[in-house]
Amino acid sequence: MKNGRRIGIMGGTFNPIHNGHLLLAAKAQEQVFLEQVLFMPSGNSYMKRNVLETQKRVDMVSLAIKNHPGFELSLIETRKSGNTYTCETLNYLKAANPNTQYYFIVGADILFQIEQWRHPEQIFQMAVLVCAVRDDYDIDAIQEKGNALAASGANIIYLNMPKLDISSTDIRAKVKSGIPISKLVPPEVAHYIEQEHLYYEED
Ligand code: NAP
Repeated sequence: MKNGRRIGIMGGTFNPIHNGHLLLAAKAQEQVFLEQVLFMPSGNSYMKRNVLETQKRVDMVSLAIKNHPGFELSLIETRKSGNTYTCETLNYLKAANPNTQYYFIVGADILFQIEQWRHPEQIFQMAVLVCAVRDDYDIDAIQEKGNALAASGANIIYLNMPKLDISSTDIRAKVKSGIPISKLVPPEVAHYIEQEHLYYEED
């Protein structure tokens, strides 16, 4: 069988996308030798409420990655109606590109949640999990959980990365309080948030 492509998937709600997401994707690309990283905003999430409308989240992702060679926007999940599930996305991608090896890029917290997602065993079969272990994490707990998931078929690569104390929740709260966010998101995203008056009335 000819060698397949190595493609990363950086999935997220991206409400909004921020420098932590971009650093995570860049570290994965560099450490795992990924040819391309697909930035894949989620569509409807049955797990999150009051999420900003999809088109605006997509616009921000598009602005954030436009100067990064190797980062591509993927609208697979936003074009789908109904809830999006990672197993369905991977099934779709693998059917279209059977020789491609997919690497699903996540924060290590996801190791503790993924068993509650739909068909985790299919996710383990179709993608390698690339987990960011930020430098304040409990490494032993992550290793123990990772070993248990590996025994259920998961392939996990651990990424070392510095902790960037940024979250989308915190960014929304800062915007609402009038605190500058210019160090937390790319300038184009900060400008878009201001221009579209996003998050000023967040609950
Ligand atoms: P998100 O909040 O936008 O975050 C995206 C990723 O970036 C997460 O893995 C997150 O890890 C990481 N991240 C956030 N802040 C970071 C920082 N400062 N430094 C480094 N990494 C950071 O997206 P999400 O809602 O968690 O969704 C992630 C993916 O999981 C999406 O593709 C979604 O569709 C999928 N998902 C699937 C199911 C399902 O199939 N049932 C359920 C839930 C989610 P941390 O969480 O560790 O911060």
